[in-house]
Amino acid sequence: MSEQQIALVTGANKGIGYEIAAGLGALGWAVGVGARDEGRRETAVEKLRAAGVDAFGVALDVTDDASVEAAARLVEERAGRLDVLVNNAGVTGGMPQEPTRVDPETMRTVVETNVIGVIRVTNAMLPLLRRSASPRIVNMSSGVGSLTRQSTPGAETGPISAAYSPSKTFLNAVTVQYAKELGDTNILINAACPGYCATDLNGFRGFRTAEQGAAIAIRLARLPDDGPTGAFFEDAGVVPW
Ligand code: NAP
Repeated sequence: MSEQQIALVTGANKGIGYEIAAGLGALGWAVGVGARDEGRRETAVEKLRAAGVDAFGVALDVTDDASVEAAARLVEERAGRLDVLVNNAGVTGGMPQEPTRVDPETMRTVVETNVIGVIRVTNAMLPLLRRSASPRIVNMSSGVGSLTRQSTPGAETGPISAAYSPSKTFLNAVTVQYAKELGDTNILINAACPGYCATDLNGFRGFRTAEQGAAIAIRLARLPDDGPTGAFFEDAGVVPW
C-alpha cells in the first residue's frame, strides 16, 4: 500500500477551501484543516471526519507569524512532512473598491492576507514540503487577477477593485518567482482559478458550486512529477497572465 499523502489547506473551514479538504480527503489523504477560528475549525473537522476524511485541525491565521510557525510545528508533529500545501485563504476587503477612493487599510489587509499570507505560510511549510517525494503548492488565485483579461475590452472581470484583483495579480507574479527559484527542485507550484463560485466571499452570487471551484486545486495538488510549474490554470486550461 502506498504511503498516505499529507495536505494542508488554508481557509478550509468553509467555501472552496472546505471542498478542497473534502476532495483530497476522499482520496484517502490526511488533511490539515487550516482555520483561524477555533469553533469554525472544529465544526469543519467534525463534518469532514463524519464524511470519512482523516482530517485534523490546524490553528492558522495567515496574517500572523506566530500562528503560522505554530501551524508548521503542528504539521511536523502530526506527520513529519507535508506533500501538498493549498494556499486558499483569501479576502476581498469588501466592495465597492474603486482606486480613487479606496481606504489604504483595505489595501493593507487584502495584500497582507492574499499575498504576504501566502508567502508567510509557504516559507514556513517549505522545510516540511522538501521532505516529500512529490511536493506540490497550489495558490488559489482568481481570473480577475489576470491582467490580460482585465485589459481586454468586454471581458467579464467583476467589479472594479483596487485591492482584490491586484492582490491576485501580485499573487500570480509571486507564484512565478517561486517557480523560478524552486525550478531545480521537485516542488511544483501553480496558481488556480476556481471560477465564480457561490460562497460567503461574494454573498453567494457565484454561479458555480464551491465543490466545482475546488476541482482545479485538487487537480494541481495531484500533478505528476513531470507536470507544469509556474503556471495559472482553470478547469478549461491555462489562464493568461
Ligand atoms: P470564503 O467562503 O469567504 O472562504 C475564505 C476562507 O479564507 C475562510 O475559511 C476564511 O476564514 C479564510 N481566511 C480569510 N482570512 C484568513 C486569515 N487571515 N487566516 C486564515 N484564514 C483566513 O471564500 P471562497 O470563495 O471559498 O474563497 C477561497 C479562495 O478562492 C480565496 O482565495 C478567493 O479569493 C478565491 N476565489 C474565490 C472565488 C469565488 O467565486 N468564490 C473566485 C476566484 C477566487 P474565516 O471563516 O475565519 O473568515
